[in-house]
Amino acid sequence: MADFDCDLLVIGAGSGGVRAARMAAQRGARVVVVEAAQLGGTCVNVGCIPKKLYSYAAHYAEDFRDAAGFGWNAGQPQFDWAKLRANRAREIARLNGVYAQLLAGAGAKLVNGWARLTGAHGVQVTTAQGDEHVTARHILVATGGRPSVPEFPGREHVVTSDGMFDIDPFPKRLMVVGGGYIACEFASIFNGLAARVTQLYRGEQVLRGFDDDVRAHVAQEMRKHGVELHTGADVARIDKGAAGLAVSLVDGRRVEVDAVLYATGRVPNVAGLGLGGAGVSQGVNDAIVVDRHGTTNVPSIHAVGDVTARLQLTPVALAEAMALVDHLFGDGQRRMSYEYVPTAVFTTPSIGTVGYSEARARQLFDKVRIYRSEFKALKHTLSGNSERTLMKLVVEDETDRVVGLHMVGADAGEIVQGFAVAMKAGATKAVFDATIGIHPTAAEEFVTMREPVPQP
Ligand code: FAD
Ligand code: NDP
Repeated sequence: MADFDCDLLVIGAGSGGVRAARMAAQRGARVVVVEAAQLGGTCVNVGCIPKKLYSYAAHYAEDFRDAAGFGWNAGQPQFDWAKLRANRAREIARLNGVYAQLLAGAGAKLVNGWARLTGAHGVQVTTAQGDEHVTARHILVATGGRPSVPEFPGREHVVTSDGMFDIDPFPKRLMVVGGGYIACEFASIFNGLAARVTQLYRGEQVLRGFDDDVRAHVAQEMRKHGVELHTGADVARIDKGAAGLAVSLVDGRRVEVDAVLYATGRVPNVAGLGLGGAGVSQGVNDAIVVDRHGTTNVPSIHAVGDVTARLQLTPVALAEAMALVDHLFGDGQRRMSYEYVPTAVFTTPSIGTVGYSEARARQLFDKVRIYRSEFKALKHTLSGNSERTLMKLVVEDETDRVVGLHMVGADAGEIVQGFAVAMKAGATKAVFDATIGIHPTAAEEFVTMREPVPQP
């Protein structure tokens, strides 16, 4: 061990990198973390956290309207985009500081600079003070991902999610291209903040990979809430004009907007890392290929999180980091499992989901039972809001095990998190049936659905 400058050198202080650094340092490893930008990575600076804060902001518009049915007269609400941006920036700066404290508290050394691999155990670190070469027994690449925008005429006029948090002026007319997590979330957010939002998705239905009922329901609700969602539509070119951006669609239509957000996926952040020189194998979109522990084909080089392009979610990056550190510096008991990873999409209304979609379950299991409930939440009996909630269970018939649980409605992520524990524990439909509901809630519907949907 003493032959190296440190035991673990972590490249990237995002979700996966910080968790790995802290855990390894707490186990007595000598840890160096190299970060080129702000601490906390994508999630803290331009991802989950600011996105969720803006999602809360967007929801107030609806909450003010809903309040009228409960007797409140709040007058004409005013929205101040500059104030929201400033408050978000202050909170993110606070979190950057918290991350610095967490690393220091664990005993990890932080270097502000750009890292590049020079071999199986070497990293060149470029800082404002100059270059430094550091050797490490283990190197962890946790450099995350970056937005990917396709090539087309006028590409230079678009923004990605990175640029949306501080966009100025507020885009009163926004086009969102894509049908994934980011496109749907940002369409909902800016729609809630009173922009006129046009969303284009190239396929038949948004959120490919999610349950088909969920996709159809959320698309319908997003349209009801005001998002002009066009499926089977794509951009041909974008031209800058006096009154904004003129977007020409492939089908010949033209739309004029103030900004175009491209949310067409994210690719691994590997440029300039020196992976090829170090002999590290890469796969689709240059993602780093790792084994079940997170180790590459070079035994001393490891990778976790978005740079491996498996499931691009913060809790997944954290879990991968913890499993790897346990393997390298602990007793190796911790295993990363990609089964029953819950996820939420913070649209309006939101999606919460865990396990298999109906279509996937039908491929995997001989026979499945489907339980579905679609209803108006109690709150909306007075609010006058026409939003409807969808809940769905997918049950493997032979074992009675609940293998898919899906919701579109208020607080779906909060509700589904708890059910994910039950599903991880192997809960059957009989266990769901034996569980007493909490009344009156929307969540109780998951334990009171009795009749399966008749199958053709
Ligand atoms: P990152 O957090 O991206 O960290 C990588 C770090 O490496 C960065 O700080 C970068 O500056 C640094 N770096 C890169 N190259 C170098 C180098 N050569 N030298 C030094 N430093 C380097 N996930 C959820 O679970 N829930 C959500 O609600 C959610 N919302 C999202 C919203 C948006 C808009 C986006 C873009 C993502 C969202 N995600 C969400 C995904 C989540 O942010 C990522 O999965 C997570 O941040 C990945 O963590 P990571 O450790 O792999 O990389
Ligand atoms: P996604 O992979 O979720 O979606 C990309 C979308 O862009 C898809 O609809 C895809 O269409 C479309 N697309 C891809 N290429 C093109 C193209 N050339 N032209 C037109 N459309 C195209 O990526 P996102 O960027 O939305 O998000 C990246 C990841 O970040 C997510 O997958 C998720 O893991 C994570 N994330 C998580 C969040 C959460 O947990 N709430 C929130 C935000 C991000 P098609 O389906 O046809 O391929």
